[in-house]
Amino acid sequence: MRLNRCWILLGLLAGVALGGLAELRADDRAAPNFVIIFCDDLGYGDLGCFGHPTIRTPHLDRMASEGQKWTEFYVAAPVCTPSRAALQTGRYPIRNGMCSMKRRVLFPDSQGGLPPGEVTLGRLLKQRGYSTHAIGKWHLGHLPQYLPTRHGYDTYYGIPYSNDMDFVQGSTRTRFEDPDFRNFNVPLIEGEKIIERPADQNTITKRACQLIRQQESGQPFLIYLAHNLPHVPLFRSPAFADASRRGLYGDVIEEIDWSVGQVLGTLRETGLDRNTLVVFTSDNGPWKSFRQQGGSAGLLRDGKGSTWEGGMREPTLFWWPGQVEPGVVMEMGSTLDLLPTLAQLADADLPTDRTLDGFDLSPTLLENKPSPRDQMVYYHGDEVFAVRQGMYKAHFKTKTSYTGQREAKVHDPPLLFHLGHDPGEQHDVAKQQPQVVQALRELKAKHEASVEPVENQLTRKE
Ligand code: MG
Repeated sequence: MRLNRCWILLGLLAGVALGGLAELRADDRAAPNFVIIFCDDLGYGDLGCFGHPTIRTPHLDRMASEGQKWTEFYVAAPVCTPSRAALQTGRYPIRNGMCSMKRRVLFPDSQGGLPPGEVTLGRLLKQRGYSTHAIGKWHLGHLPQYLPTRHGYDTYYGIPYSNDMDFVQGSTRTRFEDPDFRNFNVPLIEGEKIIERPADQNTITKRACQLIRQQESGQPFLIYLAHNLPHVPLFRSPAFADASRRGLYGDVIEEIDWSVGQVLGTLRETGLDRNTLVVFTSDNGPWKSFRQQGGSAGLLRDGKGSTWEGGMREPTLFWWPGQVEPGVVMEMGSTLDLLPTLAQLADADLPTDRTLDGFDLSPTLLENKPSPRDQMVYYHGDEVFAVRQGMYKAHFKTKTSYTGQREAKVHDPPLLFHLGHDPGEQHDVAKQQPQVVQALRELKAKHEASVEPVENQLTRKE
């Protein structure tokens, strides 16, 4: 099974590779290719290279040693939909109505989605002639007008929302303990059509790659590969059953690691590695309420759904042999920064008619210069709960993720943590640093003043 999948992936990526080589021969400074590998609910501490003691991730570890490992890389929201909207648009989701306190993500009965006027990574790169492909979980609207094919992607193959949404009638809670995809009534979409339901979620990546091979080659490409895992239910291929010392969750991470190895190996063999930037990260922290079926944020506090660091800081790698300066980057970056960074590398024009919240990270990636990002805003739904500037982070409200605490706790004065000295956010230093607290209050107010009201997409009824 593992061998078959290996060959299929190699063959599929070779198709893309040959096209890219042709482009390289035509112009050594041709626009680079981009592969963005985006996990779902992966914790900060779940990879070998981020310190996990019983999950083996040799391919990601190698990717980290050959590229850059970012230790302070953030998503813009601690749950799926708004986090994904931010990655695609380079904007805090509050700016396009993609976050809400009432419904924190989109559901199968939702009527809204990413507004059609948004400039996604796909749309940005189309202006430069890229071939663009979205594979896996989308979660930015399941209705046709919101699918990737309407947002700048030539092709789409994947599931439109989370892998646990929409149960098959009669299945029970035990469906999570011994997951069977037949219990989850999740559709598999190709283009804009449902081609399978329930989707065999074990085969999404493999079958999606078959689609890649069929694309016309000879042009630069963007592949947005959004794994539907390790979000529960935890599906893994038979070849990875009981492979990990970490149990079912570890099996899933080790299979993701294996698939990353296939992608990078193929890029190396074809020589395309010299002209392809690969990014690996996740949409939010671990889903801790699922206990052993959820991941670990390592030494960071809390997880998915929370504005503590464990909810929004993600294990992140950048890889581009010969271009990305290898090393560990202990500075801030964000998925918000991918749009301007890719625009710079591809020489694409950024939209000028809207507020963008990202920074171009290419000087850090290519020349090891300091990151241009020195602040981060932490949203819970549509409300700012915390802000960071430099090493200090202030929490104005806190709420633990998913279970237990029903109401957010208000902090006035805010809690203050020095994330260099205290990355686990254990020791409040607000009393010792009143000027820092005041500066962070002002930063929060300034950001909030920059937000203009828009229609909310997550609570829309029609
Ligand atoms: Mg998620």
